[in-house]
Amino acid sequence: MHEFAIAQDIISSLEQNLSEEFSLITSINIETGAFSGIVADSLVFGLETIFAEKQIKNVEVNIAKIEAKAECECGNTYKLEDIFELCPKCGSATRELNNGTEISVKSVNIKEDNDE
Ligand SMILES: [Zn+2]
Repeated sequence: MHEFAIAQDIISSLEQNLSEEFSLITSINIETGAFSGIVADSLVFGLETIFAEKQIKNVEVNIAKIEAKAECECGNTYKLEDIFELCPKCGSATRELNNGTEISVKSVNIKEDNDE
């Protein structure tokens, strides 16, 4: 399962970056591009499963989908709703995709010491 492998990658980089604070995670916010091919529910399930295996309870997983933008060879930038969409200005299919395919962890919240 593709999403499970991604969940494992996310968790291991969090473990590296947060070291001992990793066990204090309360929520995690992730952004996925519209064309990343990620099934959000599967990614949430994967993350929750791994957090549970590591005895970290009640982590809230939020996944936001971000829209893809394309920059055409003519210089026009447009929002891409369909991967087969052509540039509305010149009709070209030669473009650079921005934000469409990546998955990134935007923020992580850590439990404060003052609550039990
Ligand atoms: Zn164009």
